[in-house]
Amino acid sequence: MINEAMYARGAESSKIREIFTYACERKAQIGADKVFDFSLGNPSIPAPEAVRSSIERSLAECAPEELHGYTPAPGLPAARKAVAASLNRRFGTSYSMGDIFMTVGAAASVSCALHALTSPGDEVIVVSPYFPEYKVWIESCGCTCVEAPAKLYTFRLSVGSIMEAITPRTAAIIVNSPNNPTGSVYSREVLQRLANCLNEVNRSREQPVFLISDEPYRELTYGAEVPWVPDIYKNTVVCYSYSKSLSLPGERVGWVLVPPACFENARAMAAIAGSARALGFVCAPALFQRVVADCVDEPCNVGAYNRNRLLLVNELGEMGYSVVEPEGAFYLWVRALESDAEAFCERAKRFELLPVPSDSFGVPGWVRVGYCVSYDTIVNSLPAWRALMDSYR
Ligand code: PLP
Repeated sequence: MINEAMYARGAESSKIREIFTYACERKAQIGADKVFDFSLGNPSIPAPEAVRSSIERSLAECAPEELHGYTPAPGLPAARKAVAASLNRRFGTSYSMGDIFMTVGAAASVSCALHALTSPGDEVIVVSPYFPEYKVWIESCGCTCVEAPAKLYTFRLSVGSIMEAITPRTAAIIVNSPNNPTGSVYSREVLQRLANCLNEVNRSREQPVFLISDEPYRELTYGAEVPWVPDIYKNTVVCYSYSKSLSLPGERVGWVLVPPACFENARAMAAIAGSARALGFVCAPALFQRVVADCVDEPCNVGAYNRNRLLLVNELGEMGYSVVEPEGAFYLWVRALESDAEAFCERAKRFELLPVPSDSFGVPGWVRVGYCVSYDTIVNSLPAWRALMDSYR
């Protein structure tokens, strides 16, 4: 028998992927420059030159099995040491390679963390709007995804709504800052308030509530501080990926950190390894673990995204759109011009504009505009945004 739950996942697909597929078809019909695809978080900025140099050096110097062979399941020691050393330099911590598990991107990092830290029947809290795959990953652990709404209009983290969502079955909370889809960055102050409340909750529990800090956009910030969450709340497991910071989403490489101060850290780390095994993630790609070892401190090209951000925020603002000014990541959260965001996106299609309706992220009435596209795409899309606005007047 075909598994019904998996069939449903595959058959319904993700809205973001559906729009991306439509964009590819439409581009083939009318020309790539006439379609304004803001759907996917696929960076248009090329990977840094250091990535190419690292690959070329590996190709020249490594034996075939070093390039393409299996690595140890937790990853190459060189990559894990480089990640730990980089974190220590940046956050004044004292992590070692044993605290790091290399993964096939943030999707695997978060999936492994969820499988490791929950049991079927548990609840996992997400802050809505949220990255839609969280629900899929949470439910695949046999857990319930519980939505805690962010603050109205600012879309900042609401400690109150998280506290309301907590029950004795809450195993973990996923926090994602800089945030996909709203671009908000959680301040130290709000994270500290959350930590204080969780510490209070933990006093009456055998096992603490874990924070899973999903941080693929950590370096993508336009001036706001992105606090190091394990410094604020010790039971934090950090999930990271190089998909966005090094523009390597197709290469599938990232890591999970279980800090030594985390509750039962050694068992948690073993459970991460067990989850990777159970999920069939044998090891992260060998060549790209080498790239990580070489490029761990390579800066992300934030300037290019900032240029896109400023142009979109200013121009859409002047046209009369309500937008949430993003402090990080590369998404703009825009109020739909009618209450039904799906209908708004259907109308936007007439102008070849392809944002993602907010219903996919668990809230009505907004759209996500991914500005990790070229600057020219944004410039060329402006008349279409204006025409879309005019069509509602
Ligand atoms: N988490 C968030 C918030 C994301 O936006 C994404 C991808 O867009 C992922 C996880 C998955 O990242 P990866 O491609 O590294 O698996």
